[in-house]
Amino acid sequence: MTDRYAVFGHPIRHSKSPLIHATFARHSGQDLVYEAILAPLDGFAECVSQFRIDGGKGANITVPFKEQAFSLCTQRTPRAEQAGAVNTFKFENNAVLGDNTDGAGLVADLTRNLGFTLEGRHILLLGAGGAARGVIGPLLECAPARLVIANRTASRARDLAAHFHQPGDLSVTGCGLEEVDTPFDLIINATSASLAGELPVLASQAFKPEALAYDMMYGKELTPFLRLAQQHGARIVDGLGMLVEQAAEAFYLWRGVRPETQPVIAALRDAR
Ligand code: NDP
Repeated sequence: MTDRYAVFGHPIRHSKSPLIHATFARHSGQDLVYEAILAPLDGFAECVSQFRIDGGKGANITVPFKEQAFSLCTQRTPRAEQAGAVNTFKFENNAVLGDNTDGAGLVADLTRNLGFTLEGRHILLLGAGGAARGVIGPLLECAPARLVIANRTASRARDLAAHFHQPGDLSVTGCGLEEVDTPFDLIINATSASLAGELPVLASQAFKPEALAYDMMYGKELTPFLRLAQQHGARIVDGLGMLVEQAAEAFYLWRGVRPETQPVIAALRDAR
């Protein structure tokens, strides 16, 4: 019988995950179907439960359910525990294993696809929501010199920095967006400002010469953040590569097969 997978979100129509996983399955000869399911805002748990009863083997979870997904798991990977958010379920017998592949996806895109070395770098992470939570642990594992989390609501950034702070480690700090006044090698926009066509407050001195500016959002047009970064001479990249790489991590968890990501990223870029 063909194995069933799905992505749950609200909204969900925009999701590229069904196309990405169908392409992975075709390229790697895996027999599966993958659908997009619109979960009601007050009915996520019921929706997931019905999918399991119907034989679902695993799922991805997107906005706004990643924190609820965390609480539905019977087991979690260390990186999901650390993030406090789950974007991937694997269903096995009565167990629900929760994982978070966002950080691994971002790091894979930065290091493998873009050739960017994270070790020893000064990194600014804008935002303190679900996406930011998922990437902090994997970024820190790459031993940057410094990671500053800056958020519109400064207290959320400080709380997040405290959550990831190791005793004796001064490399993670949190602050308000307007407090950023030093230059960085890598600036990651993990706010949802781009979704609304808005620009997070950001001082021009944040961009080192030849900095890399990475917006987790992806689309046809440059986001206001990427336009600003371009004006400051930064190399600019959107989050399409991260999207495909986090999907590949989920596919590996489910199927034990690592799909090729480069052709899928290239096809999605061509299709825009
Ligand atoms: P959340 O709703 O959890 O968090 C939103 C964050 O954005 C908060 O820190 C919020 O600040 C901040 N924010 C919202 N509006 C503004 C604004 N106008 N100016 C400054 N800051 C603002 O969202 P997620 O973390 O889940 O998602 C963030 C983005 O990442 C989305 O665009 C999403 O599409 C993208 N994403 C991309 C992925 C990929 O694979 N490419 C994977 C996951 C997410 P405050 O705390 O003050 O409210």
